[in-house]
Amino acid sequence: KIVKRISIIDAKDYVDQEVEIGVWLTDKRSSGKIAFLQLRDGTAFFQGVVLKNQIGEEKFTEIKHLRQETSMVITGTIHEDARSHFGYEIEVSSLEVIGDSNDYPITPKEHGVDFLLDHRHLWLRSKKPHAMMVIRNEIIRATYEFFNQEGFIKIDAPILTGSAPEGTTELFKTEYFDKEAYLSQSGQLYEEAGAMAFGKVFSFGPTFRAEKSKTRRHLIEFWMIEPEMAFMHQEESLEVQERYVAYLVQSVLDHCEYELSLLGRDPEVLKKYTKLPYPRISYDKAIEMLQESGQFPDVKWGDDFGSPEETFLAEQFEQPVFVLNYPKAIKPFYMKPHPTREDVYICADLLAPEGYGEIIGGSERETDYDKLLAKIEEAGLSREAYDWYLDLRKYGSVPHSGFGLGLERAITWITGEDHIREAIPFPRLLNRLNP
Ligand code: ATP
Ligand code: MG
Ligand code: MG
Ligand code: MG
Repeated sequence: KIVKRISIIDAKDYVDQEVEIGVWLTDKRSSGKIAFLQLRDGTAFFQGVVLKNQIGEEKFTEIKHLRQETSMVITGTIHEDARSHFGYEIEVSSLEVIGDSNDYPITPKEHGVDFLLDHRHLWLRSKKPHAMMVIRNEIIRATYEFFNQEGFIKIDAPILTGSAPEGTTELFKTEYFDKEAYLSQSGQLYEEAGAMAFGKVFSFGPTFRAEKSKTRRHLIEFWMIEPEMAFMHQEESLEVQERYVAYLVQSVLDHCEYELSLLGRDPEVLKKYTKLPYPRISYDKAIEMLQESGQFPDVKWGDDFGSPEETFLAEQFEQPVFVLNYPKAIKPFYMKPHPTREDVYICADLLAPEGYGEIIGGSERETDYDKLLAKIEEAGLSREAYDWYLDLRKYGSVPHSGFGLGLERAITWITGEDHIREAIPFPRLLNRLNP
């Protein structure tokens, strides 16, 4: 008899049917007559029930001695099980061991952060990272869906570059045969070229920052989504941004109910973030709010915001909040100056609620060749490296705007996770390059 091989995530389609599943053992307990196997097949975690009088004395004894993470193929019948979190279990009728396991280092007891980071390649098999990665995948899926629906095409930016968009302090330098190269900090300049060629584009790729800070929000290697839109001013870009963020939240609510509950994230909290529009305040107003709070006695106009300031500002609102028009001195050269204010750019950061900080940075871009050239020279950047970028202002320059969303920042916020390292499979942190 041929039994159908399934993934347990599809259990609802096979209730009371006999199926075959490839699994790993995560835990077990048994009495004289019955064994409960905690199993995972990669798609979900569930229970297998083995009855001695059904499987036979010899097999039952073998099962009682199986070690954690033994891989096997089981056959059995799916039953609904209202008592379990997953909702289904399998009554095992046969079981074949595929790969024996040694003493597995990650046991059901609590482990420390460093231990789990050292064993990240194994820790990924556990429930919490599983839920995090499923949600990460959903956010990536929803990103492609959203931008495709909105008429964007994905134009990939290079990872190895010869130019350094935002100064060289946070850049990783490497060799490119006999030349110097850098790992990308942002694909933005290339996306601007893409927008001039394709109208609305986005990139999604890894970016690298040699930031020597240890915060709960910064990774050394992270993934960024960077849309860029030709013939678009900032106000319309802000609308794209809030639609996109609300779409991500809604997609996770729609498709990751189980994972959210596993992580203890209340969907009611997330629902508030699907309401549009998001509030907008100016940087000037933000400074005023900080000063009036009495909690930031030293804050003055011109300061960049750190985590405490961003957290305070976001706490004043129920939704993510846009902070508009930052001072020029704290933002990069390619932004477009405000038409009536010499001292600020047409730009905005989107601050996430609940203390998760900046999830988007964006702006309208300088369109004028001479002004851009002056800015590049003023910033001490190499003219040669930016010749191609200046070309974009020589041949049919148009108003254009764009933004960058940090994938792991968004995941950390949406899942309510404490630390950004949990939002990426293999985090690169200040003192961690392995595994
Ligand atoms: P921050 O002020 O938090 O350091 P940033 O202003 O330096 O961020 P941008 O250059 O504007 O960051 O990058 C766009 C987005 O990329 C940010 O809004 C954030 O979501 C994300 N991001 C920036 N740096 C990091 C990092 N080190 N780790 C993870 N995500 C990051
Ligand atoms: Mg930064
Ligand atoms: Mg910032
Ligand atoms: Mg920023």
